[in-house]
Amino acid sequence: MEGQEKCAGVKLDGEQCTSPFVVTGTRYCSAHQPGGRQEMQRRGLMGALASRRSNGLDPDELEELETHEDAKRRLDLIGQAVLTGRLRDGQANAAVRSVEAWLRAEGERLTVAVVEDLRRQVEAFCSECGRPRPPCIGSFFDRGNVR
Ligand SMILES: [Zn+2]
Repeated sequence: MEGQEKCAGVKLDGEQCTSPFVVTGTRYCSAHQPGGRQEMQRRGLMGALASRRSNGLDPDELEELETHEDAKRRLDLIGQAVLTGRLRDGQANAAVRSVEAWLRAEGERLTVAVVEDLRRQVEAFCSECGRPRPPCIGSFFDRGNVR
């Protein structure tokens, strides 16, 4: 520390800089030394980037997933959120995985529903026809074989 020494630089508004933190070997503070302005801008940008939070998605934006269209909209929303910096990679990956899990579960639910519907139709058909149900159909559609 050089005691009373102050920066010899001039601020953007024309005022004399009063910073007492003169960089060793210069007459200027870190902002007014050669290249200082660019360095301060760089540090400011880094600080802004570091403090920029990815706040995630607003709960109001998240519709219940009930249809495949809902899932498509959710994936679009996730994509937009990544592109606009609201979601980080890890958050987006988790969000996409959750949609994929929903799609798998929904696919299974639909398959079970379709098979169940077919089983009912075959049973209705067989009971109308009055003839004994062929064993091949009977064994295929037994509850034990169809989830
Ligand atoms: Zn200065």
